[in-house]
Amino acid sequence: MTAPDLPCIPPGTLLRLDSEDWYHPDEANCDVDRTVALIVAKVHTDSTSATSVSVWITGHAPECTWPTSEYHPPCIQLRVRCEALRRIVEGQR
Ligand SMILES: [Zn+2]
Repeated sequence: MTAPDLPCIPPGTLLRLDSEDWYHPDEANCDVDRTVALIVAKVHTDSTSATSVSVWITGHAPECTWPTSEYHPPCIQLRVRCEALRRIVEGQR
């Protein structure tokens, strides 16, 4: 299954996600009902990472010093709804 019609989100893009735009399947009981901001490192559009509903995105918190400090693995990984990505990209045009 391939990701349907996902907008292109270049690395370095700042995403602001409302609480309903994203979720983390492994942290259902954590305090995740909140808005989150992340700087995109990678949108995982490969067939094992993306569905028609949501996609894995890895990135960094805005307060993180990446990429001005030494490289480190993305400190944020979460699933973002495709619908939210389209809305965000269209809103930036
Ligand atoms: Zn980071």
